Amino acid sequence: MTDRLMMIPGPTILPPEVREALGKPSIYHRGGEFAALLAECVEGLRSLLGTAKMPVLLTCSGTGGVEAMIVNTLSPGDRVLAVDSGKFGDRMGRIAAAYGASVTTLPLEPGRAAEPEQVEKALGQEPYTALLFVYNETSTGVKQPVHELARVAIDRGVMPLVDCVSAVAGMPVAVDEWGLAGAAGGSQKALMLPPGLAVVVLGEKGLSAAAGAKMPRFYFDLPKAISAQEKGQTPYTPNVSLILALQAALRLIFAEGLATFQQRHRRLASACRAAARAAGLDLLVAAESEASDVVTAIRSPAGIDSSLLVKAVAANHDIVISGGQDQLKGRIFRIGHMGAAQLSDLLRTWEAVATELSALGTPCSPDECVSAAEAAYQTAE
Ligand code: PLP
Repeated sequence: MTDRLMMIPGPTILPPEVREALGKPSIYHRGGEFAALLAECVEGLRSLLGTAKMPVLLTCSGTGGVEAMIVNTLSPGDRVLAVDSGKFGDRMGRIAAAYGASVTTLPLEPGRAAEPEQVEKALGQEPYTALLFVYNETSTGVKQPVHELARVAIDRGVMPLVDCVSAVAGMPVAVDEWGLAGAAGGSQKALMLPPGLAVVVLGEKGLSAAAGAKMPRFYFDLPKAISAQEKGQTPYTPNVSLILALQAALRLIFAEGLATFQQRHRRLASACRAAARAAGLDLLVAAESEASDVVTAIRSPAGIDSSLLVKAVAANHDIVISGGQDQLKGRIFRIGHMGAAQLSDLLRTWEAVATELSALGTPCSPDECVSAAEAAYQTAE
């Protein structure tokens, strides 16, 4: 197996320390060694999520974390407003509907973030229980103004429940300060782990809602998981190997410094946008201030199906980038730059993208893309 360069928005590059941890002997999940491991991970996750509450580790992918957050805070029949920012915003609404919530959707143009006034208007005077939205919409490379949107909801007594799956670690999250009722993250993004672990935290409002929430749940019972974690355990057998790897990943993040780690993400994002401009391509995002720190979505040149570009970059350069999803299929390509990704990885990626775009009939200079990316990386905040 070759060591492909993973430049997709998850799964991402696994650092050697994480791979080594994945290969460690198992430890007993009802013993003191596991309790110490869990305690260290919980502390680290508290810093990443900006919370004093208990972040719960679940053995499932990010979607399971989002589902757990929803079913522990809502009851069938509750009215919720779901911001449809793209594939994952739509999914939040569909999860809530599957459990019997009465879902109203606020659709956004692909590439646009929600304006607080837009959400305020959509909430109106209706008796909504929750506002569901995605912090970093991975399908479009757009970040939402979480704090502002949460404030609009909170002012109306509506719980903000936020999918932070692709934001956790790579972008600042402040559950307590922003008053989020819930936030969910996933392992295969900036956390630099393989898929299979989700983290969910309920804020103050989410915890009180959990006491009366009636949506059915068993494996995903968060109050039960919180009580178990307070005793250094999980209710069911956890994926111990992934938790050992999480410890290694958290140590890497804190050794770099969380602020520096997140700044590297912003600098990479700025470098990626600069390379796209140098190639003469348009970003999907309408305003740079709304562009994601961890993934960039770029419009494919007219007449070129982006899936051909994605295939050529993989076949000829061993670099994995991704195409568009759903209605954006063939129209955009996305470059993930999170977790362990460094500037050198991004430059290699753009060299490959520019070379293959030229081969597909859109001439662009790999050197110009690389220089633009390097310059932007140096000057970004
Ligand atoms: N939400 C967002 C924003 C995501 O990016 C993803 C995965 O890409 C998910 C949810 C779903 O996570 P998973 O595929 O781990 O279930």
